[in-house]
Amino acid sequence: MIPLSVYVHIPFCTVKCSYCDFNAYAGMDNLKESYAAALVSEVQAWRHVLAGAAIATIGFGGGTPGEVPATHIAAVIDAIRAEATLAAGAEISLEANPGSITGGYLGELAHAGVNRISFGAQSFDPAELSFLDRIHSPEAIGAAMKLAREAGIASVGLDLMYGLPDQKMSTWRDSVSSAVALGVDHISLYALTIEDGTPLAGRVEREEVVPLDPDSVATMYEAASEWLAAAGYLQYELSNWARPGHESRHNQVYWTGGDYLGIGAGAHGFIAGERYEDIAHPRTYIHAAKMLAPSGRRPNTVVRAYRPDEPTAMCDWVTLALRRLEGFPPGAFRARFGRELDEVFGPPLADCEAAGVLSRGEHIRLTSRGRLLHGEVAVRLLAHATATR
Ligand code: SF4
Repeated sequence: MIPLSVYVHIPFCTVKCSYCDFNAYAGMDNLKESYAAALVSEVQAWRHVLAGAAIATIGFGGGTPGEVPATHIAAVIDAIRAEATLAAGAEISLEANPGSITGGYLGELAHAGVNRISFGAQSFDPAELSFLDRIHSPEAIGAAMKLAREAGIASVGLDLMYGLPDQKMSTWRDSVSSAVALGVDHISLYALTIEDGTPLAGRVEREEVVPLDPDSVATMYEAASEWLAAAGYLQYELSNWARPGHESRHNQVYWTGGDYLGIGAGAHGFIAGERYEDIAHPRTYIHAAKMLAPSGRRPNTVVRAYRPDEPTAMCDWVTLALRRLEGFPPGAFRARFGRELDEVFGPPLADCEAAGVLSRGEHIRLTSRGRLLHGEVAVRLLAHATATR
């Protein structure tokens, strides 16, 4: 049995948030049913990959998977079960918005096999929630957590955002403290980024909104790291903290270069060294999926597939591995690529070490300062890989 994970993209949201550049759409509720059927068709069309695979994790992301009926989620899980073997204790995770779920809905998800849920809380401050276009109240977050626990979902977490324009350290501290007080199992912290083409980027261009300065953003990240450590949460990745045993197994597959199928509009997959990407628009995706049948080849919902050249593959692998706090032993690189790490990336790694960004011992990992500069490290690795190609 080959270990495999599956990512399922649900592109629907109640409101399109002004800062969001994900493949997510509001106002497409009428497509939900046909989209679920398209997902099932795509799962079946990957039969040649799923047969003989042991599915370790399934992750429903989006968009907002919690906005589609639980029967649709169950249908996709059942389709995966019909084509592959679900490993014992497989993690099945789903993202949802607090405020738009009920106890009955969560019970149906748990019955379908969902054992991990992450709520897009973002903030416990009403003004910040309003700025972010989020449709839930701070109170809804605690209520959603309680309902998820009552439904028997084993791991319950939430996401918070920092670095918002005008955000005060006091509101940031309150949000992190409120999450801790709820006893969440997992917390993801994301800095607000101004993405080109979003309504928020337009407001910044028109000088209606002034982004928070980078030093304040970094201070918020470092402060939260301290608060969460003091509360007993273990940071295991740049943006992720968990109580012991509640780390996301699905996301670890991405960071360790594991294989995963991507199913759904705009989903990305990585199978046996090949990356691929599905048709992005839900309507076009649904249309293409109508003509799908298991054929032993890549389904026609895939719009782009390519095998990264070796320097790019090595660079991707190291960059992702450095997101994990434990980093990686050089032997893991050798086992993967048959080359010595220093032979390939010696100069940029030495530079990063000299700058105090990276430590090199039994494991190569970022230092606490380096965690703020992961993007810089990635740029250096890529520049070196490109120059020596
Ligand atoms: S809920 Fe999430 S995915 Fe949907 S629009 Fe807002 S940020 Fe984007």
